[in-house]
Amino acid sequence: MGIPGLLNGDCFAGPCYRANSDALAEPLPPSVPALAVYSRLDRIAPWHLCQDPSAECVEIRSSHTAMGLHPDFYRTIRPTLASWAASDEHAAVPA
Ligand SMILES: [Zn+2]
Repeated sequence: MGIPGLLNGDCFAGPCYRANSDALAEPLPPSVPALAVYSRLDRIAPWHLCQDPSAECVEIRSSHTAMGLHPDFYRTIRPTLASWAASDEHAAVPA
């Protein structure tokens, strides 16, 4: 099971899986901006599980598979990404 050279069984049920699950459960550092886009119409990812407490959460109306192509997704994320790009607060390069 897995993808040769990328993932193996350990990534799905072993120490690799547990290490990554634990890391994902940790809150993001305040210096890392996050935007969680969710949809109550999503029949794959339960919308309430998509609201990361470390993120700014915004709702759009889209199916799961259409979200990446949905115009509302880009209209929604544009102002947030623009404000991050204009802000020194979230500079990605450490000093
Ligand atoms: Zn792994």
